[in-house]
Amino acid sequence: MRDAPIQSAEAEPVASSATASGKRVNLFGLDREAMAAFFKGHGESAFRAKQVMQWIYARGVTDFSAMTDLSKKLRERLPEIAEIRPPARIREQASADGTRKWLLAVTEDLDPDNAIEAVYIPETERATLCISSQIGCALDCSFCATGKQGLNRNLSAAEIVGQVWMAEHDLRARGEFRGERAITNIVFMGMGEPLANYRALVPAIRILLDDYGFGLSKRRVTVSTSGLVPFMDRLRAEVDVALAVSLHAPTDELRDELVPINRKYPLDELMAACDRYVAGKERRAHVVYEYVLLAGINDQPQHARALVKLLGNRPAKINLIPFNPFDGSGYRRPAPADIRAFQDALHARGLRTTVRRTRGDDIDAACGQLVGRVRSKQKRHLRDVPIRVESRPAPRV
Ligand code: SAH
Ligand code: SF4
Repeated sequence: MRDAPIQSAEAEPVASSATASGKRVNLFGLDREAMAAFFKGHGESAFRAKQVMQWIYARGVTDFSAMTDLSKKLRERLPEIAEIRPPARIREQASADGTRKWLLAVTEDLDPDNAIEAVYIPETERATLCISSQIGCALDCSFCATGKQGLNRNLSAAEIVGQVWMAEHDLRARGEFRGERAITNIVFMGMGEPLANYRALVPAIRILLDDYGFGLSKRRVTVSTSGLVPFMDRLRAEVDVALAVSLHAPTDELRDELVPINRKYPLDELMAACDRYVAGKERRAHVVYEYVLLAGINDQPQHARALVKLLGNRPAKINLIPFNPFDGSGYRRPAPADIRAFQDALHARGLRTTVRRTRGDDIDAACGQLVGRVRSKQKRHLRDVPIRVESRPAPRV
């Protein structure tokens, strides 16, 4: 892939994409099966799906006229019925530590008030892209800047996949390669609750995992959820990816306050769903439990003890996230000694625990700080958004 030149960054459709017609299908949203059905529906062979996906994802080509292994007739027809349109970049920020943040407009009119953020975090062993699944979020966790905005709307599968394509494209143009590709890992830890946008999430994940898509291994794609239990079971049944669960409190009393969805799916239901998620998977399968550390709220020795008790002997890794402050949050990050003491208390009981290093501090690129530019007239919060569970196949346990 490295040899295949990706289209130059200048060629990226930014303002020009405003002319895109709503009737054209954005191919970023079609997984291989849907893409094959699309071509068959237009009287073409299903094999065109593989060809076109290779152009898009392996070679980074979005211009149909450059897809030389398609017939001339099809190359001419495609621009009328389809487009390959990544989100438009409104702003980019680079941190001193190599972290990069993009502000992206996802609506066709490029409205900057409907913008989301994606963050690239290079490390020695890997390079992670943190992507958004919704514009805003309805779930209203008390310590989260995205949650404060309420939900504007779900992203489409094309808008989710488009973030990854755009970042991969931009990074390759800058020569940031890790082997064949720029991005090695994807985490759904940007704006939004991915399982509240389940319908778009699944095809997007399929494209990330597909050899004809981004070809990422299942351990390198992580969905982070605040605990939408029914969708955790559906995810388990439909795609195979790593799961991170935003626990943040070891008791229902405290979690009800910090993560309000707990009132609907309390800890006993959540932990049972976590157990079902890893049951029957390979030996090393585990859930990553995220725990934001808020000074004086959930970082005391009794919280560590209760957390140990809650997790018991489960296959688990704990990721402690020192609170990332934002204006008016009302919370504080604990002192380093308190963070260490909390981690030590978990280690002492045999729990694998890491503390998330803060990256991109100078550009507000850390977890919970992504706010995009959401100015919705119909801001919706948890109370307004029924979490619907559609009829589903029985989970494979
Ligand atoms: N909605 C999903 C994924 C996006 S948030 C979820 O809640 O899991 C990604 C992670 O950042 C979650 O664990 C979330 O609880 C955490 N987070 C949110 N706000 C934060 C903040 N201000 N400081 C540190 N972590 C935060
Ligand atoms: Fe939504 Fe996650 Fe923020 Fe909670 S922490 S408000 S679920 S984005």
